[in-house]
Amino acid sequence: MVENNKEDTEVKCIFCGRDLNRSEMVRYRGAISCRDCAEKQKPDSNPIIRPFVYLAGIGCLIGMLTFIYFTLHITLYSQVFPTSYIQPLGPFFGGMILTQVFVAFGLYAINRIHLYQASIIGTLTSLLAAVSSTFALFDFITVGPYFIVNESVFPKTLDYYPTAMATYILFVIVTALAILLHMANTKTEYVSIISVVLFLLSTLIVMSIWILAGFLNIAAYAVAFGFFVSRKQGHEELQIRPL
Ligand SMILES: [Zn+2]
Repeated sequence: MVENNKEDTEVKCIFCGRDLNRSEMVRYRGAISCRDCAEKQKPDSNPIIRPFVYLAGIGCLIGMLTFIYFTLHITLYSQVFPTSYIQPLGPFFGGMILTQVFVAFGLYAINRIHLYQASIIGTLTSLLAAVSSTFALFDFITVGPYFIVNESVFPKTLDYYPTAMATYILFVIVTALAILLHMANTKTEYVSIISVVLFLLSTLIVMSIWILAGFLNIAAYAVAFGFFVSRKQGHEELQIRPL
């Protein structure tokens, strides 16, 4: 009798190796472990991840609307007022700030368990891009939509803000990489592949052909919205059961 009880106490948690008594044991995916370790193994068990990826989804919708407005505005009006045309950079940078901040939450949420460093880098890059967009927005609102070179007045375009554009491109590349890393850790899905391809394509031409870049960005955010929001079905909910 005494020896049997002793064997009971020698069951170890498969993850942390701690000795477990009967009341502490749980079964998760066929393995016997302590409850703490089983909770840690569940990929999306922390409920905080869902609001985070939904925020990223909202960020993608804002990014989509921002690029629709900006691209249509250029398409429709730049031919009508070729000399005095002013790009709507106030709403553009405003929309980008919200997009980048919200997507920062999503990049944190999708990789924070298996690729913690990647989730931090993604988040910081998004916030850096949001800060540089904020400086550009501040300049456009306070200094105005024109600049002067050799006593000639020119309207500001996106090209006037190379730092904001450079950090935006960095943000898009890091977002694509974060989604790739997430795919490597879960399973390959079309929505992930398509969003990565669109994000990377949009960075290639973002500074050159604006109309095309605009529509590619719209498509990238539309698919990325699907990517972030579908995260809640991304993992099967596996039960932790007491033994
Ligand atoms: Zn354990």
